[in-house]
Amino acid sequence: MARMHVKTGDIVVVRVGDYKDKWKTSEDKEGNETKKERKTAKVIAVSPEEGKVIVENVNKASKHVKARRQGEQSAIVKVDAPVYACKVQLYCPKCDKGVRTHIEVIDGKKVRVCSGKKADGTPCGHQFD
Ligand SMILES: [Zn+2]
Repeated sequence: MARMHVKTGDIVVVRVGDYKDKWKTSEDKEGNETKKERKTAKVIAVSPEEGKVIVENVNKASKHVKARRQGEQSAIVKVDAPVYACKVQLYCPKCDKGVRTHIEVIDGKKVRVCSGKKADGTPCGHQFD
């Protein structure tokens, strides 16, 4: 089984398709751009067997659902489809970007630590677990 670098509930940056390098912006009452934030998403499921993850609102796929019971309607629904885990990176709030991580043992526990560097070259060191 492949080791996954992300797990359910993680906040990630997705580097695939439409979501690549997207930013979400906020507007004030006059419609002026006030804030630019990196677009992040939440991991809702991981599949180590396939090396894939399902990320909330990313990679929507249309699924045709047939009515099975009386009163139900056949419809096309949007479902979250899996994306390759290698296309997502953990989001580090200190670095404000998707980052690589490494494992450090802190107080006897394995912790995922941000491998990013600050502007002055010192390690970020943000702990994810
Ligand atoms: Zn960081």
